[in-house]
Amino acid sequence: MLADLLSLFFPPVCAGCGSVLNSAEKSVCTCCMSSLPRTDFHLQKDNPVERIFWGRVEVKKASAFCWFGQESKVQQLIHELKYRGKKEIGFLLGEIYGCELRETGWVDEIDMLVPVPLSRNKEISRGYNQSEWFAKGLAQGMALPLYRQSLSTIKKNGSQTFRSRYWRWKSVESAFFVRQATLLRGKNILLVDDVITSGATLEACATALLKSGVRSVSVAAIAFTPLND
Ligand SMILES: [Zn+2]
Repeated sequence: MLADLLSLFFPPVCAGCGSVLNSAEKSVCTCCMSSLPRTDFHLQKDNPVERIFWGRVEVKKASAFCWFGQESKVQQLIHELKYRGKKEIGFLLGEIYGCELRETGWVDEIDMLVPVPLSRNKEISRGYNQSEWFAKGLAQGMALPLYRQSLSTIKKNGSQTFRSRYWRWKSVESAFFVRQATLLRGKNILLVDDVITSGATLEACATALLKSGVRSVSVAAIAFTPLND
C-alpha cells in the first residue's frame, strides 16, 4: 500500500524521456524503447563489432544491441545506468536483447555468460557493475547461466604509465585474470560489456579466457560506438 501511495505522489518516470510510466512499463517507456537505434548485428555475419577483433583475438560471434550516438537516447540510458544507480535499466535492456538473441538462434552454441569486471575500487564506489546487470538480463532472456565472478581485475602495475599504444595495450592485457578456470574449461563463453569502442578491454578479457582453456569466446554489449579515425 505504501508503494501505491508513493507512486501516486511520485509516479515512476521514463529514464529516456521523463514521461510518466504506465503500470505495464518498467524504467523505460514503450515509445523510447521502440525508438532505440538497433544495430541488428546479430543478423549480420562479419558485422562491424566482429571486425574490430580481427587480427587481435579470436572472437566467435559479436554483437551490440544499439548504436551509441552522442547525445542520443541510448547515451542517456547508459548514463542513468552507470552514474545514477539505475541498474534495472541494464537488466531490462539485457532481457529484451537476450530474448531476441535466443529467438534468432544466435545463442545456440553458448554455454554461459561472463561479465567484464570493473576494477574493485570502481565497483565499491558505484555499488555495482553495470555490465553485470546487463548480463543478468541477457542470462534471463537467454535462459543461460551467468558466472559473474569468473573474471577479475588485477591491480595495474607501472606499465600503464608508458605512453605508447603497445604498452597501454600490454597494461590492459595484464589487468584481468580468470578465477574459475575449471568451471569454464571447454565451454563457449559469452563475454558481456556495456559499450564497445576500441574493443581493448574485451580483447584483454577474451585473451585471458582463451589462455585459461575455454573453447570459444563471443561478445555482446549494450551499445557500439565506432572509433573515429
Ligand atoms: Zn520515454
